[in-house]
Amino acid sequence: MLVSLIKQNVINLSAYKVNDFECKAKLDANESPFGFDISPEALNLVKTNKYPDPEARELRAILSKMWDVPPENILHGNGSDELIYYCIMATGGPVLYPTPTFVMYSIIAKSLSEATLPIALNEDFELDTDAIIKTIHKKNPRIIFISSPNNPTGNAFAVENIHRIIMESKGLVVVDEAYQSFSDKPSFVSYIGNYDNLVVMKTLSKIGFAALRLGFVIGREDIIKEINKLRLPYNVNSLSQTIAVDLLSKKQSELSEDIQTIISERYRLMERLNEFNALRVYPSDSNFFLIKPLRMKGVELYSKLLESGVAVKSFGAAVPALNDCLRVTVGTPEENTFFLNCIEKILNTKRTT
Ligand SMILES: *Cc1c(COP(=O)(O)O)cnc(C)c1O
Repeated sequence: MLVSLIKQNVINLSAYKVNDFECKAKLDANESPFGFDISPEALNLVKTNKYPDPEARELRAILSKMWDVPPENILHGNGSDELIYYCIMATGGPVLYPTPTFVMYSIIAKSLSEATLPIALNEDFELDTDAIIKTIHKKNPRIIFISSPNNPTGNAFAVENIHRIIMESKGLVVVDEAYQSFSDKPSFVSYIGNYDNLVVMKTLSKIGFAALRLGFVIGREDIIKEINKLRLPYNVNSLSQTIAVDLLSKKQSELSEDIQTIISERYRLMERLNEFNALRVYPSDSNFFLIKPLRMKGVELYSKLLESGVAVKSFGAAVPALNDCLRVTVGTPEENTFFLNCIEKILNTKRTT
């Protein structure tokens, strides 16, 4: 292979790395610990010889009710990752995002050779709105990504900060609500009529459907129409469409119960972890949260957890703001108790209470 044929911006990229551990509790990928059984009747509806519905009409109709927004305002993607691609392709750069945040914004911007404007979050992981607005005025970013709640810090940003950014920006602002179901803060979907430069991104990945790869952009019809021109014709396959339609139409109450369980397990986990003097626990509005061991290195706790059978996410030197932090996804009650017991053994400290 003539590597010299590859464009320089691609050579400079590093591939998105996913760990594939065999372990007792896999708490490293922000997946829901609760899945759904697929009904054979749903599977029988899939015609293997036919292309999927390119417009995913049934699925968008159901989501239109769930999110209280007309179907014309919803664009479907093969996960929201695909839609991040389309959004950046549609506007071009510079691409502004706070940092640390979801890495795909920068990976996709760079893979499209677009300039990036990463702006550091404050010490408490809140948006540095003044710095962002200054950069907006100076560099005029054509697109801004705000993940709220933010991955990997876990917190939702102050709503008025997001409003200020949308108002100051001449570019498109994408509010990524991958974790919004776990937060008390309201969705920005209700504001798409108020701003002509706002779209909201949603995904089913974090609420039990990661296997299906279903993400969505919600926005004004004129913007959705333009982004839709970039969408590959059959981007969401029939299996995913059919299974999602079947489950979303029948399992709404299980879905909200699962989300409630995850939220209450998050409270239980964080409360117990806060009792350890040797650990800092960061606030969260998501199905995951950050911890930082205070008397050992983050990587040391990471390895010891892995040896005990718990996988969490560690951030290497690549993310200095998260030095020594580990990201823990809320699992099933059993996984969470197992994780707590492992932490207690590793930190080897009596709790303060
Ligand atoms: C997980 C995640 C996504 C990706 O969602 P997919 O629909 O699985 O592609 C998007 N944004 C954020 C902030 C995420 O953490």
